[in-house]
Amino acid sequence: MAESFFNIDGQLRTLAAQAEADCGEAFARIEETCAFNEEKVLSAFARQRVSEVHFKGSTGYGYDDLGRETLDRVYADFFGCEDALVRHNFVSGTHALTVALFGVLRAGDTMVSLTGAPYDTMEEVIGLRGEGHGSLKDFGVSYRQLDLLESGAPDLAGIPSAVQGAKVAYIQRSRGYSLRPSLTVEQIGAMAAAAKAANPAVRVIVDNCYGEFVEKTEPTQAGADLIVGSLIKNPGGGVAETGGYIAGKRELIELCSYRLTCVGLGKEVGCTLNQSKPMFMGAFLAPQTVANAVKTSVFALRLFELLGFEAFPRFDEYRTDIIAAIRLGTPERLIAFCQGIQKGSPVDGFVSPEPWDMPGYDSPVIMAAGAFTGGASIELSADAPLREPYAVWLQGGITYNTGKLGILCAAQALKEQGLI
Ligand SMILES: *Cc1c(COP(=O)(O)O)cnc(C)c1O
Repeated sequence: MAESFFNIDGQLRTLAAQAEADCGEAFARIEETCAFNEEKVLSAFARQRVSEVHFKGSTGYGYDDLGRETLDRVYADFFGCEDALVRHNFVSGTHALTVALFGVLRAGDTMVSLTGAPYDTMEEVIGLRGEGHGSLKDFGVSYRQLDLLESGAPDLAGIPSAVQGAKVAYIQRSRGYSLRPSLTVEQIGAMAAAAKAANPAVRVIVDNCYGEFVEKTEPTQAGADLIVGSLIKNPGGGVAETGGYIAGKRELIELCSYRLTCVGLGKEVGCTLNQSKPMFMGAFLAPQTVANAVKTSVFALRLFELLGFEAFPRFDEYRTDIIAAIRLGTPERLIAFCQGIQKGSPVDGFVSPEPWDMPGYDSPVIMAAGAFTGGASIELSADAPLREPYAVWLQGGITYNTGKLGILCAAQALKEQGLI
């Protein structure tokens, strides 16, 4: 019997069945969005005439790499924008965001965050922590931020004065390691409109990490000038082995390409080695993979709510990213939860994660990541900084049934240690 593969407590299995039944309507909405996005992506592949020759990677300089050029056009097509820079050479989302910011900003310019404090790893890039390492601040770019309202909603009324004189208005779509709500594309559109009405020269750059394909449109279709993300998250579909993307206005993509490679060379170089096919195939699978991750997230939110924990967002809320945050309240529960997720992972399911001082983060973090691709958080994964509010951030699940099992293993670990 399936029940015997993982030793999940009978009461937990029953509660899981109830949670899953409660998720029916949310799941139907996710499937509908998935079908829409699959049609969008498939038609982009057809329009851009993707062919097997595009999967054969180049070496050396990578001049005239048809796969690279076509993949950029495919991304621009399904993101509804002019151009894109999709590269395995981006080492992470933070790197792609860094290239975008350094590509667009110049000495004397100002960047203003419209979503309060940015994601932890961006603090050193901006220069909020550390000195003399070549941050934006070291290069003469100043930074200020407009905090979100108490409710976590954007401060629309504060935007006109916040963007005065700013070159870049920066918006983070996903909650990051906070409990604020993630921003919908519609909200981002309203923020971009407010920013541009007050300062027509401002460039809106959106950290789109974890948001791609969760809704039917992307911020580029709502007024963002650039969107940026990681290929080991949503748009890599669980298949891309590394990389990131920047998509949006052509002139800005060109500036970003000069920063990624060299001024003058830009997009014309950069060999693809053997990475083209996984990037294409990952993009093709991404809407489905993202739907599985959102379903896993919705299930986890409902199950842990039934177990008595505060979970964000509500399981039946409209979704704009794949993240679920569960306030477990104690470090012991965070550790047990992550160890349980690890047990329910296909790779390294036999190891037990411990908290560590991860580069770029200012408190110890425990992470569960039993993924085929190192650190890929489109695969089921959980991270918890060991600090108030002692919440775990959970994301991914490239198939729903295995994602659900991972969540059940986490609940089981809490149960076995008497923590629920
Ligand atoms: C993941 C993420 C990033 C980038 O993180 P990397 O680990 O460098 O890919 C940036 N912003 C947000 C909101 C994220 O979730």
